[in-house]
Amino acid sequence: MPAKKQKYDCIVIGSGPGGAPFAWQLAANGMDVLVLEAGPKYDPYKAYALDKTDWETQGFPETKRIRNTFGKSQPLDLKYEKLRSWNKAVGKLNRTKERRYLKYQHVAGIGGTTLHFQGEAHRLNENAFRMKSLYDVAVDWPIGYSDLEPYYAQAEKVLGVAGPEKVPDRPRKNPYPLKPHKLSYASQIIEKGCKKHGLELTPNSVAILSEVYRDAPPCNYCNGCVWGCPRKDKGSVDVTFIPLVQETGKCEILENVFVTRIEVEKKNGVRKAKGLVYYDNKGKEHFVSGDYITVACGAVETPRLLINSEIDNNDLVGKNFMETTFYEAVAFHPERLDSYRGIPMDSIIWKWNTPDPKRGFPGGLRMFPTAGSALGPLSYALRYSSGWGESFVKDVEKWFGHAVAVGGIAEFLPNDDTFITVNPDIKDQYGAPVANIQSFLGESELKCLEFMSAKAKEILDASGATEIVEEVSTYDLFSATHVYGTCRMGKDREKSVVDPSLRFHGIPNLLVTDASVFPTSGGGEAPSLTIEALSLRAADLLLKELKKG
Ligand SMILES: Cc1cc2nc3c(=O)[nH]c(=O)nc-3n(C[C@H](O)[C@H](O)[C@H](O)COP(=O)(O)OP(=O)(O)OC[C@H]3O[C@@H](n4cnc5c(N)ncnc54)[C@H](O)[C@@H]3O)c2cc1C
Ligand code: SF4
Repeated sequence: MPAKKQKYDCIVIGSGPGGAPFAWQLAANGMDVLVLEAGPKYDPYKAYALDKTDWETQGFPETKRIRNTFGKSQPLDLKYEKLRSWNKAVGKLNRTKERRYLKYQHVAGIGGTTLHFQGEAHRLNENAFRMKSLYDVAVDWPIGYSDLEPYYAQAEKVLGVAGPEKVPDRPRKNPYPLKPHKLSYASQIIEKGCKKHGLELTPNSVAILSEVYRDAPPCNYCNGCVWGCPRKDKGSVDVTFIPLVQETGKCEILENVFVTRIEVEKKNGVRKAKGLVYYDNKGKEHFVSGDYITVACGAVETPRLLINSEIDNNDLVGKNFMETTFYEAVAFHPERLDSYRGIPMDSIIWKWNTPDPKRGFPGGLRMFPTAGSALGPLSYALRYSSGWGESFVKDVEKWFGHAVAVGGIAEFLPNDDTFITVNPDIKDQYGAPVANIQSFLGESELKCLEFMSAKAKEILDASGATEIVEEVSTYDLFSATHVYGTCRMGKDREKSVVDPSLRFHGIPNLLVTDASVFPTSGGGEAPSLTIEALSLRAADLLLKELKKG
């Protein structure tokens, strides 16, 4: 179905954490807003598989996927061979000498990729905003932690974030809206191992309900967040910001529509976004205009749309792409821990989160106990047991419930070999060239993976785990969940794409409000809360400017 009007005060492209908070604020302040979303609306009570007997064979029920291709593969530095991904059942997961691209993980749907996320809701470390001035790498953000603090608090309230009294290096004016979740039994065992190494395990701050909130019951600790939460307990954007957008009565949301081009015109020497071309769910082309256009398609699709629209600034759109630096080790514990019970990540070791070049790499990181992939019997059968017949069945029975994992996520510094372009040879059904992702790890990321691997093994060992059965790392596999950086925010229009209020340099009525604007990635913090805070701040600054006339 096409949009009801020919013209809106603002058009927002994408309904994830970058788009929905912005649309909400503008509509709540009386503006006519149109949200265009490539994917469908999922009904949490019907769409997800967690209440089905074959849930484990199903992933998130993607009905629409935005395609992309990949660029050159990075040759593996054999100095770091120990970091190869493997498991007991299969052996090496990548037997080649090059890093293998698996997929860019994202969801097209009302609510964006948060439909599939694990609910972690982190503020960035204060120092992570100043990588250049404090550690002489990458760039500084043009804004700091204190600029985002009120918007972090606003987003936490909308989501219903459950968290502890204090998280190191993130000063807060008010407590988290909800009390923290208790640690699962498996995490308590890992906590004992942490204590032996003088490490503190802090309850994680998560957009997962620990009490009744937003008319939803508290979480039932089924650990299935990535399948999509069937109880509306997880603070995905569809059940948090989108209802607020709808309550305003000023916003039209179109699902299953795809924007292929933004039109820019030049008037009196000033460039201005005029409107955009989109295809409706029947494949029919439309044009709609807006006083403001906000792009929030995620750090891969946003640069693709801008490049396909021939909108760029000093050839910087798509540069500085950053992905996820990730490592995880799964081990068997002699005691049955049932680590599949709980929320996906209930606690964190923040000790190494503040950047520190003395470790041999500058960026910060965080580590955590988790069930890893060890959720149902199928994981055990496909990943942690080998052989055939009766002995295989006995092996799976013997070890089911005994696996526990420790993982880490860390800073990814931008580098020249890592970027998004478009692939002119491969086009989607609308004739638009698809995004092409190329990503190489730098020496800092490799050293950091080595560090996280050593620490994870130390912690598992000290917790009493006896046998490592799987290691997965981004050393040899690209499977990015957190992506950023392709429309860098900065004051200097020669070196950045958007200004600190997220307006495109030189096109003041065009904004980018998603993860693309991050100048650096932070030390492994989950990004959605920061994206939401940035989006709320951009809306607030725009509204203040409009009020001034
Ligand atoms: C498995 C997994 C677990 C994760 N866990 C966490 C977590 O625990 N905590 C956390 O903070 N983050 C987590 N993340 C990351 C988080 O989901 C993303 O960082 C976040 O959703 C990015 O927000 P965004 O607005 O930039 O993009 P997205 O959420 O991807 O939203 C972009 C939207 O734009 C739409 N779109 C794209 N192109 C077009 C177009 N041309 N026309 C119309 N619409 C378009 C897309 O369909 C999509 O809905 C996880 C991600 C994955 C995959
Ligand atoms: S663990 Fe909690 S939030 Fe996650 S899917 Fe289960 S009920 Fe929902």
